[in-house]
Amino acid sequence: MTDMLYLTSAVCFILSLKGLSSAESARRGNLYGISGMILACIASYLALDFSSALPTMSAIAIGGGIGFFIARIVSMTSLPQLVAGFHSLVGLAAVLISFSACYAPGLFGTPPCAETHIVRLIEVGLGAAIGAVTFSGSVMAFLKLHGVYKGHGVSSSTNMFIALLMCSLFLYFVYAGDTVAFIALAALSLLFGVTLIIPIGGADMPVVVSMLNSYSGWAASGIGFTLNNDLLVITGALVGASGAILSYIMCKGMNRSLWNVIFASKQDVAANNAILSETRSYKQGAPEDAAFILKNAKSVIIVPGYGMATSKAQYALKEVGDILKKKKICVKYAIHPVAGRMPGHMNVLLAEADVPYDDVFALDEINRDFASCDVALVVGANDVTNPVAKNDRSSSIYGMPILEVEKAKTILFLKRSMGNGYAKVDNELFYAQNTMMLLGDAKKTLETVIRGIN
Ligand code: NDP
Repeated sequence: MTDMLYLTSAVCFILSLKGLSSAESARRGNLYGISGMILACIASYLALDFSSALPTMSAIAIGGGIGFFIARIVSMTSLPQLVAGFHSLVGLAAVLISFSACYAPGLFGTPPCAETHIVRLIEVGLGAAIGAVTFSGSVMAFLKLHGVYKGHGVSSSTNMFIALLMCSLFLYFVYAGDTVAFIALAALSLLFGVTLIIPIGGADMPVVVSMLNSYSGWAASGIGFTLNNDLLVITGALVGASGAILSYIMCKGMNRSLWNVIFASKQDVAANNAILSETRSYKQGAPEDAAFILKNAKSVIIVPGYGMATSKAQYALKEVGDILKKKKICVKYAIHPVAGRMPGHMNVLLAEADVPYDDVFALDEINRDFASCDVALVVGANDVTNPVAKNDRSSSIYGMPILEVEKAKTILFLKRSMGNGYAKVDNELFYAQNTMMLLGDAKKTLETVIRGIN
């Protein structure tokens, strides 16, 4: 019965991933995921003996309650930190289970480490190492994304050295089954998680979040082997593989290799550019001017970014789009793969506001349309439009493909100030001849624009 339920649950998780791969089927994918998780919980409950049922169910109730509470209060803009925080828990679980397997092997029905089979040692060693890197790396990512840690980095050669030391300790542990080597491996892996994430620059954080997602999957898969739980092995592998594929796709989106993102980290070197922006001249307009320009356009491409999320402007933006469409103006939405603060951030917000999926285009689908469009309406986006990514080799975002809004006849930038975006790089476009800055909260500006158009 338990195996049957585990199998059904694993199929649900696969269907869930398939569903989540497109916006139209994402809701269905989520339902599959929830059903799979409910089945997995029922199956685990059935597999328990009476004495462990009460503590286990109490742990699930307390953990589930805390998770539910956190998910209810967290703001949309803090989701990446939340995801990183949750990944850290998977890593911690893997470390703790590997410790139990090493120090209380009787619980798992295996002999002590020194006498156990080599495959078992590989499994326990990998579980502890990947789990510890996931745990400390995710905590570090949380602190960086939350703006708590702003310090600078560790050289890539130091990281290489720690990685080599870890490999040696792992090999020794597998060879000798030595528990001191096991502790040293876990401790060094905790350190490696921190030193690996510290030097990674702001613009690369999306890849880090998805990479940690992948690590947490492999860690869960490792726990599955230790606990002899097939469902955990399958689910962990699904998370691990999908996270790795997502990291690869995002690196491709930024025109970087994963190796380059992790070991040749680009620091936020251009932070001082903000000072420059105060002294350069730019054109500032009023929302009424923007309304006039939009009303007289034939085609408008809307580019949402992180600022749309913070000002919760998606509904007002959809209203602008709808009004323009009623006036027979062609309206499209362009989404950059790393716009916002988490993969798919903009897609989720636009879907929440009921923007039709057919109007939403990915970077490679829309970029050629900017040259023929009348207005690019940039709402709280900055880095993802910055041409410096194409021109300036010294920039931390050099090489990242951008939405080529500079090719539009007119660019309307909605943001609160002339300040920088996440990567702290000044945006040349603010000072361009065809740019009009509309300074203020995006939602309020859009509401005035709506009144102006009407
Ligand atoms: P940016 O962070 O580059 O720019 C956002 C802009 O929004 C800011 O310049 C800010 O300017 C403006 N803004 C903030 N609040 C408001 C408001 N209430 N009203 C109007 N404007 C506002 O965002 P992008 O989306 O362009 O780029 C995403 C960046 O985040 C990239 O560098 C990416 O690498 C990084 N990142 C992405 C993640 C992901 O998974 N997508 C995860 C982590 C990082 P001002 O303060 O002047 O208003």
